[in-house]
Amino acid sequence: MQIVVQKYGGTSLATPELRSRVCDLVAGALEDGYRVVVVVSAMGRQNDPYATDTFINLVKQTNSNPSPREMDLIMSCGEMISGIILSNQLYARGIPASFLTGEQSGLVTDGNHGHAHVLYVKPQRVLQCLEAGLVPVVAGFQGLGENGELTTLGRGGSDTTASVLGVALNAEYIDIFTDVEGIMTADPRIVEDARLINDITYNEICQMAREGAKVVHPRAIEIAMQRGIPLRVRSTFSDSPGTLVRNRIDSQSDVVSIIRDTLITGITHSSNIAQIKIDVSQMADRQGIQLLVFQAMAGAGISVDFINVQPELIMFTVADEEAVRAEHILKSIDISPLIECNCAKVAVVGAAMTGIPGVMARVVEALNQYDIPILQSGDSYTNIWCLVKKEDMKLAVKALHDKFELGKK
Ligand code: ADP
Ligand code: MG
Repeated sequence: MQIVVQKYGGTSLATPELRSRVCDLVAGALEDGYRVVVVVSAMGRQNDPYATDTFINLVKQTNSNPSPREMDLIMSCGEMISGIILSNQLYARGIPASFLTGEQSGLVTDGNHGHAHVLYVKPQRVLQCLEAGLVPVVAGFQGLGENGELTTLGRGGSDTTASVLGVALNAEYIDIFTDVEGIMTADPRIVEDARLINDITYNEICQMAREGAKVVHPRAIEIAMQRGIPLRVRSTFSDSPGTLVRNRIDSQSDVVSIIRDTLITGITHSSNIAQIKIDVSQMADRQGIQLLVFQAMAGAGISVDFINVQPELIMFTVADEEAVRAEHILKSIDISPLIECNCAKVAVVGAAMTGIPGVMARVVEALNQYDIPILQSGDSYTNIWCLVKKEDMKLAVKALHDKFELGKK
């Protein structure tokens, strides 16, 4: 049987009218001859009554430090609610459906509450539903820890659920339905003339997603790639074909053309970053201090990023919400850091940019043009990133998008 997995994000499920559109899309795939597996996120966005953040805030109103086990249980409620509502709505439309939790769908994870990794999947219940002519509606973002406790998969976890099931069921497609046309050259909420990317390789979108393009979770791409299942990112609200993510090899033809990744795929951004700088130029034992700093962060469980150690300076970033704790810990070991909160990272991403001269020159030119200070920068084979103040982020993304001529022609 030909299976398609359809994942719907929160905004696609927020109202009865939108869910009716979702029912149309499910019906359309059934008419096309597919067996359909639906994966849902929690309904709506922040502050909506059944959104995950709303549940988190409810708990935190009376306990600022809740246990990870109970947090996972409450965080899993949003997907349960939306899945039950949608399966009932499908039924009302004459499409027999059956709601399944992550556990019932066979997703087994490690025991990391809040950001569990899927270890394996036993999709028997999902298959039984399909064989019985039912549309399984699966709660995304949740699984069963090996210790028997419910776990959640972290932000964007429903994308991962869809990919895991797509791979386990050897689906024809994994369709990620969302509130934008598809994968664009930059977030269309920031860059008006961002262009839809029709076709993209797993590698390219993985780089974009890792650098902050939250339209699809990088883990979901990595998983789909393992079995080469094509993934489509599409809009729930329009009939646009969206973006097709696949390996661009046409195995049907005699000539197998292997297409290169594009030079610059797009511009990404991510925020809520705090930069920490420690001047060690006047210190006697610089190596000792370097070790002390990173051991202190590790000891406190604070994850550090964008690490840059120079003979006279130590630089790194932490999540904004960890900045106060990091400062406190450093001061307790007699180190006075300089902390810049509210920073953002903008990145030029392109899997084929390695070895191409002049990319950084254009980045600097674009940011200089608008007097946007670069607080720090770095690069890899597939990207060049700059840390800027958060208030400069949108302008920086637009400037880079223009400079690399990524907009609509
Ligand atoms: P969902 O709830 O459907 O999972 P998300 O909010 O996780 O939706 O992801 C969709 C959002 O991703 C869009 O609304 C858009 O603002 C954002 N986004 C960021 N970068 C990009 C990009 N390059 N292309 C498309 N959307 C992007
Ligand atoms: Mg998402």
